[in-house]
Formats: sequence, C-alpha cells, structure tokens
Amino acid sequence: MFIIPNTLDLIGNTPLVRLETASEEAGCDIYGKCEFANPGASVKDRAALYIIRDAEERGLLKTGGRIVEGTAGNTGIGIALVANAKGYKSTIVMPETQSREKMDTLRALGAELITVPAAPYSSPCHFVHQSRRIAEETEGAVWANQFDNVANRRAHIETTAEEIWQQMDGRIDGFTCAAGTGGTIAGVGMGLKAKDAKVTIALTDPHGAALYEYYAHGELKSEGSSVAEGIGQGRITGNLEDAPIDRQYRISDEEGLQWVERLLQEEGLCLGLSSGINVAGAIALGKELGKGSRIATILCDTGFRYLSSLYNAEWLREKGLPVFPWLQNEE
Ligand code: PMP
Repeated sequence: MFIIPNTLDLIGNTPLVRLETASEEAGCDIYGKCEFANPGASVKDRAALYIIRDAEERGLLKTGGRIVEGTAGNTGIGIALVANAKGYKSTIVMPETQSREKMDTLRALGAELITVPAAPYSSPCHFVHQSRRIAEETEGAVWANQFDNVANRRAHIETTAEEIWQQMDGRIDGFTCAAGTGGTIAGVGMGLKAKDAKVTIALTDPHGAALYEYYAHGELKSEGSSVAEGIGQGRITGNLEDAPIDRQYRISDEEGLQWVERLLQEEGLCLGLSSGINVAGAIALGKELGKGSRIATILCDTGFRYLSSLYNAEWLREKGLPVFPWLQNEE
C-alpha cells in the first residue's frame, strides 16, 4: 500500500465503476466516475482546488485571505475544505432552496454561510451577484467565480478527462453529463477530444435548463423545472464557451429518480439526483452509439447529502414525485 503525502492529494483519482444495471439496460458498457469519493463527497472538490491554486498563482490570495463564492453547495464544501487545508477563510453564499445537509455541512466545516432567497440571474439579489459584491467589499478576499473562471474546467481537462482516458485504456466511445457551471462537461469533453476526436460528447440536460435547446437549435430556451441540485443552466457560462458538444438529451426528474432508485437497490450506490440524470443520459447515448460501445458519465455526489429531501417521503410527495417503495410507510 502507498501513502498519500498530503490531504489535498486526496482530491481526484477517483475510481471508475462499471454500472451493471445501466449497462444491461443500454446494451453496452456504462461506466460511472465515483466523484462522491472525493474528500468533500462531490465532483466540485476538483474545481475548488484548481480555482484556489489559480488565485494563488496570480498573487490574488495572500496568507490568511478569504475565498468568497456563490454556490448550490458542493463547490462551497470543496472550497471550505481546501481553504482550511491551506490556511484561508471561506464565505459561502447559497440559495435557501438547497438541501439542509449542505448548509449544516458548510457550517460544520467552519465556512461563513450566508443564505439568500432564490432569485433569477437577472436580479442583483441572485446568489452569484451577491457573492461577487461581498468579495469586492471584503479586504483580502477573492471571488472564486466558478461559472466563468476557466480554472474550473481546466481541473477536468487535466484530471477528470485524463483519469477516464487512462482508466478506460483509451477505449471510449462517448461521455455525457449534465451542466451546472459546465466545467465538467466542457473540461472532460475538451480533454477527451484532444485524445481522440471521435469520442462523442453529449450534454444531458434536466428540465428547466436552457442548454438542450441551445445545442439543438441555437436558442437558449427552457421549459418545465427540476428539483435536481447543482445542475440546470440558463446561459453560456465562461466554462461552456467552445465546449465540444456533439449531441444532447433532456432527462426528466422521474427518469433520473428511477436510476437513483435502481443504483441504490441493485448496485448499493447512494447518490444524488444529478447522478441519476447523468446515468439516464448515458443510457440514451449508449443506445444511440450501439452494442459494444463504451460510455462514461459522472456520479457527481453522495446521496447522504439529500436525506431530508430526495430520500424523504414527505418531501418527495410535496414535490409530486414518486416515493421510493421502501420509504412509503414513512409518515
Ligand atoms: N451535480 C452536482 C450535485 C453539483 O453540485 C454540480 C455542481 N454545480 C454538478 C452536478 C455540475 O457540475 P459542473 O458545475 O461542473 O457543471
């Protein structure tokens, strides 16, 4: 056994697992990148590390400095952990609509947490704009700006894509995932295309996001809504610019939840809804690319982050979503 020299080196190098039930459904091989295995239990640890390193290299972050970010939660958790490891402080601005577990986790990690009412991106009250203002007004603070800061997607070009390529021995036909900032899809897409331009990169979009229409018809337009946290984008972020997207799928919450259920019941993986939506997208891509194809996707975060929502009967009923059979007797 070897020893990891530094806790920050625990970020990345996550396992890639063959998903039996999804592969069977698709008639080809579907692989999931286990991003819940990162120290902050999500894919966003990678972006947090790269953004903070980038700010250090630019001379923006000094000893004892503060990183401020607006986030659905997972990036905040990554930033709080990396900040602690490097001796910085963190301020996280988060919409009130996100899971209670993420808020409790951020407080537990020692981040300063500011929750704000949900507001459209066009409003100055949107959590992203509020976080920028707080960073500007705070001495020694840096705004992480994960949506437009391309250090985010660089993390996925240099680490996630590289790892997937190595783990699959360079035999990969397609990759898909949903977009929040777009760092993962753009970065992994760019990294894999640089290895082999024939790899098909597909965007999996939840309802309520505008990217499906954009890549299908060149127009940012959305319909419906989704309860999935961390995904669903309405604009072309800096990270999404020039992303090599070959095709796109739109996946409903019901379909994503069905895969959350099957992955838990049949494979023993407890995941968040964006992972279920990604797996449904990977199956759609696998069916299109055909028998024998090899598809990778992202298992973005742990389901333990959603015990009071996704895994709570009352919450699911409130949202008009099907309740997992084993939770149906819960009051
Ligand atoms: N799933 C979850 C649970 C997330 O928190 C995020 C990050 N917003 C994503 C998926 C999407 O990742 P990205 O920001 O790289 O598009």
